[in-house]
Amino acid sequence: MGSDIPSIKFDKSRVSEDIKKALYADINGLPYIPTQLREALYGAALESISKGRDLALLTRWLVEQDVPGIDKGQASAIARFLNNRATVRMRINREASNGISESIWIHSGAPCLCPNAAEHLRANGTRYGLRDGLLINGVPSWPGMDEGCKCTWKAVIPGF
Ligand SMILES: [Zn+2]
Repeated sequence: MGSDIPSIKFDKSRVSEDIKKALYADINGLPYIPTQLREALYGAALESISKGRDLALLTRWLVEQDVPGIDKGQASAIARFLNNRATVRMRINREASNGISESIWIHSGAPCLCPNAAEHLRANGTRYGLRDGLLINGVPSWPGMDEGCKCTWKAVIPGF
């Protein structure tokens, strides 16, 4: 006899090799994380992402490591950052596999708390290649990727 409460099932196959590789690169770019902890952080982050964005799990794990420079707030920001980026990449993969190749940048209306906030506001409504991203200050960028970015995007459905 199982429970009748439906559980939200996250499709783990979405965490593909390219998602894992990009996650590893994100972790290597994080400040304060000691080199010897990176492998374990990768494992914890992968678990958090594979559970469908379990931010509490990754935040708790990071706090337990007691890393100098990383308090509860920073742990939670790192958990959000790593999950946000993976979520964006998984959505890109899903849309690309559905035949979508173009997107429209959508600004949330609230200022992004990232260094390119003004550019993100200007990008609102701009069409760009789903995989290529939009060049912002010469760097390929995707909505929701940068820390503090609240932007999202709309898929351009082929034929419309
Ligand atoms: Zn933004």
